[in-house]
Amino acid sequence: MNTDVTKFDNGIFQIDVHMEGKTERMSCYYIDSSEPILIEVGPSNSFPYLISALESLGINNIKRTAITHLHLDHVGGIGHLNEKYKDNFVYVHELGIKHLPNPERLWRAVSDVYTEEWLKKNWGEIKPIPIENIKSLNDGADIKLDINRNLKALYSPGHAKHHYTFYDEYSGTLFMGDTLGLIYPHGDFVQPNLPPPDFNKETLFQTLDRLENLEINQLAIAHFGIHKKPYQLITEAKESIENWIMFIKNIEHMSDDEASNELVQWLTKNYKSLDIDNETIINYIGNGNFIMQINGIRNYLTKN
Ligand SMILES: [Zn+2]
Repeated sequence: MNTDVTKFDNGIFQIDVHMEGKTERMSCYYIDSSEPILIEVGPSNSFPYLISALESLGINNIKRTAITHLHLDHVGGIGHLNEKYKDNFVYVHELGIKHLPNPERLWRAVSDVYTEEWLKKNWGEIKPIPIENIKSLNDGADIKLDINRNLKALYSPGHAKHHYTFYDEYSGTLFMGDTLGLIYPHGDFVQPNLPPPDFNKETLFQTLDRLENLEINQLAIAHFGIHKKPYQLITEAKESIENWIMFIKNIEHMSDDEASNELVQWLTKNYKSLDIDNETIINYIGNGNFIMQINGIRNYLTKN
């Protein structure tokens, strides 16, 4: 087991795939059971880290991978994985059938937000996978892990319209993807992640309300890691999202750049007033992609 792997109870492994060359930014998960599954692959550039972490666990074949949503920080490396493990089946929202064999549109959609240069450097290019290797998910579908253990796929729009969360009732773990937001070490609070074009508050809150009704022991989020106190975190996430939207509404006269600066200053002040240490504040602020957040919120506000 290498240092990028953290073992949790019930055969759950968290794998740090060094997104953008940094630790503790993106985690994939592996559930070791009679029919094991990988959850998320991370971006293309993270693929070497994913593979060496898996190999350090003695895993030399992947047959099933569940993807929370089609953003490239979660699915970008899938072509590399399927090139290596040709029998790998990918469980994903039905839009995956359209996009993963021909990922140009996914690439363009993301490069509109991040720029192509940034994408290539930080996440890497996405390769296609064969359509035969894709299994499209239905809401409530059970993916078998063991005789009495399933991973339930729950349709979870709000962050993205192609988002699923995965619920392992056996361990009480909810694999959240980006539905909750961002929690960076060593903070234990949620920062919203509300990108265009899909972010919609009402849709996201409906998703979170539904998830809150499950019996959850821990939330496994993509950015980053496994967290206890699931219900408290969901409540806090909703509060932060409401506060951010209110804040952005009140500065509607500002340009995106100005609004982004204003948001950063406001957040820094808030975090300081909560006695959060400087290193943690820098972690959260440095990885927030605030122009994208402004675009996501403003896009939602103009539609509503
Ligand atoms: Zn993400």
